[in-house]
Amino acid sequence: MKPQLILLGAPGAGKGTQAARLVKEFGYNHISTGDLLRGEVAKGTELGLRVKQVMDSGDLVDDQLVLDLLKANCDLSNKVYIFDGFPRNLEQAKALEEHVLKGTPSKAVNFDMNIDVLVERITNRRIAQKSGEIYNLLTRPPKVEGKCDVSGEDLIHRKDDNEDTVRNRMNVFKSANGPVVDYYKAEGRLINIDAAQEPDAVFKTLSEVLS
Ligand code: AMP
Repeated sequence: MKPQLILLGAPGAGKGTQAARLVKEFGYNHISTGDLLRGEVAKGTELGLRVKQVMDSGDLVDDQLVLDLLKANCDLSNKVYIFDGFPRNLEQAKALEEHVLKGTPSKAVNFDMNIDVLVERITNRRIAQKSGEIYNLLTRPPKVEGKCDVSGEDLIHRKDDNEDTVRNRMNVFKSANGPVVDYYKAEGRLINIDAAQEPDAVFKTLSEVLS
């Protein structure tokens, strides 16, 4: 059985792009707490209304609330998951182990990258929700402006992908990610990936690690 995968890394480091390929080629299930939260906001649920402002500012949503949402949306009994966007701090890493993984074999992949270059990457990011394709207006523009090459759907510019919010998201990341990386390293479960490489090279490394 393949290990459950926990993707760590700054916003824009390529976690979503790689997750989409791992789903296609290795049969993983992708679970992103950011996507789950955005889904709640879009549906206008009570939870969505509570978290909207926090998300728009780039701060972190309450740990327990995100953990509950995660637990409600994954079932480890016969599936292998990619956890994307969770854990964001040491408390979440411990909670993931205690309440979700419960000893199931897992590896944490650290998308290592100089985060100063990421602000430009994210502000130019455009997302196709249905197909999962991720574009960049500078480095991977769609063939037709505003449309996904694969599905033709309208591309989305996430509300929190603006420069001010992105800078805050990077600061939030810098202050909480170190202990998470140290935690998995101490457990011998950490895989470091140079996320500044081209996406194909990152995927090749990941595939080798998983095979
Ligand atoms: P993401 O799509 O992972 O960049 O997440 C977008 C936003 O959702 C973040 O800036 C947070 O406001 C919120 N969020 C996502 N995952 C978490 C988490 N594990 N803990 C707290 N807040 C989260």
